[in-house]
Amino acid sequence: MENFITKIIDKDLSINPSLEIKTRFPPEPNGYLHIGHVKSIWLNNELAVQYNGKCNLRFDDTNPVKEDIEFINSIKDDIAWLGYDTSSNIHYASDYFEQFFEYAVRLIKMGKAYIDHQSPDEIAKTRGTLTESGIESPCRDRPIEESFSDFIKMRQGEFPERACCLRAKIDMSSSFLVLRDPVIYRIKYAHHHQTGDKWCIYPMYDFAHCLSDYIENISHSLCSLEFQDNRRLYDWVLDELGLSQPVRPRQYEFSRLNFDDVVLSKRKLTKLVEEKHVSGWSDPKMPTVSGLRNRGFTPSSIKEFISQAGITKQNYFVSFSLLENVLRKELETNATRALAVINPLKVVITNLDGDYVETLQCSNHPKQEMGHRDVAFSNEIYIDKNDFKLVANKKFKRLIFGGEVRLRGAYVMKANDYKMDLNGDISMIYCTIDKETLGKNTSDGRKVKGVIHWVCAKNNASVIFRLFNKVFNTDGLVANDATEEVAGYVESSVVESDMRVHYQFERVGYFIQSVDNPTIYNGVITLRESFSKD
Ligand code: ATP
Ligand code: MG
Repeated sequence: MENFITKIIDKDLSINPSLEIKTRFPPEPNGYLHIGHVKSIWLNNELAVQYNGKCNLRFDDTNPVKEDIEFINSIKDDIAWLGYDTSSNIHYASDYFEQFFEYAVRLIKMGKAYIDHQSPDEIAKTRGTLTESGIESPCRDRPIEESFSDFIKMRQGEFPERACCLRAKIDMSSSFLVLRDPVIYRIKYAHHHQTGDKWCIYPMYDFAHCLSDYIENISHSLCSLEFQDNRRLYDWVLDELGLSQPVRPRQYEFSRLNFDDVVLSKRKLTKLVEEKHVSGWSDPKMPTVSGLRNRGFTPSSIKEFISQAGITKQNYFVSFSLLENVLRKELETNATRALAVINPLKVVITNLDGDYVETLQCSNHPKQEMGHRDVAFSNEIYIDKNDFKLVANKKFKRLIFGGEVRLRGAYVMKANDYKMDLNGDISMIYCTIDKETLGKNTSDGRKVKGVIHWVCAKNNASVIFRLFNKVFNTDGLVANDATEEVAGYVESSVVESDMRVHYQFERVGYFIQSVDNPTIYNGVITLRESFSKD
């Protein structure tokens, strides 16, 4: 890969050829990973590969209230599924709590941090605005010893939550709000999934992040653009503490992955899960890694999409259909072909005996060497309701009353008669096949243009097709009619195969067996890009 980050690394290496390139992916374990996170995972891991370096997976677990071990496990699984082996490089910010505490004490002793007894509300109110300076806390210039002993008391649990906090002493009139004496430690009586009840004070992100990077010898700390201002505090902490050896980590920002039609904010996704708009984080409608996996996206298509989007500093929005196009291209090449009928209409072939059965050989792919399979054919088959019309104009290349059509992989068939139900819907058609047309053109040169798909009515499997419409509405909520389930038939080879095989059900779409129910086939994507009508 080549982008503005590789340029920076190349320059750093030209100055210091022995620099080990070390990156990290630092998720907060307060939700499942979404495809936006994959951009960061991909960038950090691919850089490590390209420069023969390392990429750590570091759980940024400094806020125990929202975190959960379920999220830690899902994050590990998702990264492994994407094809990155982080098993030997897993770290937790909480591993460094003792070190963070010591660094905080050092800042206090240097007169660079103080315990503030103002309430969180007062601190917020005196922070100032973009045009007005903040107001200094009355605690700002208290004696170092007092702050030190209060900090120890904080750790020992002698103050209630919100009674006081540790603030860095920087500049209340800085044009960067993050430098206006930011809070770096607060009291929380919360059980932590890694450290249990050992701590009742927890460091803030800005303080913990740069120190974690330093402790792990991270050379390039990459994050999304909204952390641009936080870089000032990142540098302040490391510089004040003189942490430059053996490696002084540097933060660089790149633009996030944003979709204009799909929600990626963890906060909003959490809401969808908690309010039960979806069945969970791994619901195939979710843009989470596990949701996309259940839906049938592949690691290669997701990574290819991220790679095509590129790494820049410009904020931009892309359509989710770009990701679908990458997957479509992949599946067009790789997916096994099979026959399935979603809206079945029964066909009786009258020039075959009532007990006629035959096994046809159908090719698994029109272009790739993917072998053949046995497909049952008999005197009764199903075709799609939409593929038969009593009358139609010339554009309709499928079966019309009195007309002929080719059954995919089988014979040319002619419709001679039909039956209607009480509603006036066609419930059955009666056809004859031209027995000389298996794998051959008609002998008298009749042109048969249309090809339709079908499934044997006597040897098949009944399944449910789960179709996904446009999944999100503009509020980020899942549309009520996002999922549609219809009963239909697939050829028997499909259900006899291993799970998680991608199929192109010919003329229908790409499907994969659902992980939660083997009789359900999830629609992965349509055969062609469909333009939404709204
Ligand atoms: P969200 O903003 O969706 O709530 P987050 O930033 O709070 O997510 P973290 O767990 O803190 O989630 O993210 C871990 C890393 O992933 C961070 O370095 C963050 O910059 C990066 N990241 C998160 N969302 C995106 C995105 N849409 N595109 C690129 N990187 C992202
Ligand atoms: Mg975050």
